[in-house]
Amino acid sequence: HQARLVQHEKLAGIGRLAAGVAHEINNPLGVILGYVRLLQRRAEGALAEDLRVVEEEAVRCQDIVEGLLDLARPGRGPLEPVALRDACEEVVLRLREATRLGPQGSVSVEVHGEGTAWAQASRLRQVLLNLVKNAAEAAGEGGRVEVRIAVDAAGASRVAVSDSGPGVPPDARLFEPFFTTKPSGTGLGLAVSQAIAEAHGGRIDVDTGPLGGARFTLSLPAPSREQEAAA
Ligand code: ADP
Ligand code: MG
Repeated sequence: HQARLVQHEKLAGIGRLAAGVAHEINNPLGVILGYVRLLQRRAEGALAEDLRVVEEEAVRCQDIVEGLLDLARPGRGPLEPVALRDACEEVVLRLREATRLGPQGSVSVEVHGEGTAWAQASRLRQVLLNLVKNAAEAAGEGGRVEVRIAVDAAGASRVAVSDSGPGVPPDARLFEPFFTTKPSGTGLGLAVSQAIAEAHGGRIDVDTGPLGGARFTLSLPAPSREQEAAA
């Protein structure tokens, strides 16, 4: 419990700082990216390669700023019914464009089940994106990712994202901001996702899944009668 409190204070502190700084950083960063992309169009060979690295790293800075802003953003907006199947498939599609998710790519992704969650749709999608992206990264070449959706009679929903990767080490502080084991990770995906889940009265748990790797389960509570009636 104490740890939770410390975690919350830490997030709030980071949030305040980020809200102040992010805006100032975002504009020059946008200009840098604009110019790099302009130069890339004229460059060839080794120079083009170098510019690609500059672009990648600038995009990474954008990811960090965006992650910090996500942590800073308060609570959540009004709840809406979200079709989980559609939301998950959208996320897979988006990642497929950006990376090499199956079927043509190197990681196969299956989505099972369906149902409706009550959430702020954009933030829920963000959580799903973070979890599926992590799973695909953990699964790696030739790996598998499975998304299972389940909604109980009362309307409480669960989305479990499992992968065939190496699993998570038992003492890892995965949900801590900036914890990352990836060379170009931000370590903000799970911290942001957990904060979003909690803003919805839900949570994210991790254990070993059916594919041998990690399983991250997002649980969201059933809507109140008023919420349901208002939708
Ligand atoms: P990032 O992806 O930028 O590293 P995250 O907050 O999304 O940041 O994840 C933090 C860390 O948690 C990852 O670097 C990785 O070590 C671990 N992790 C997350 N998802 C998985 C997974 N599906 N399997 C194994 N480890 C994972
Ligand atoms: Mg991540």
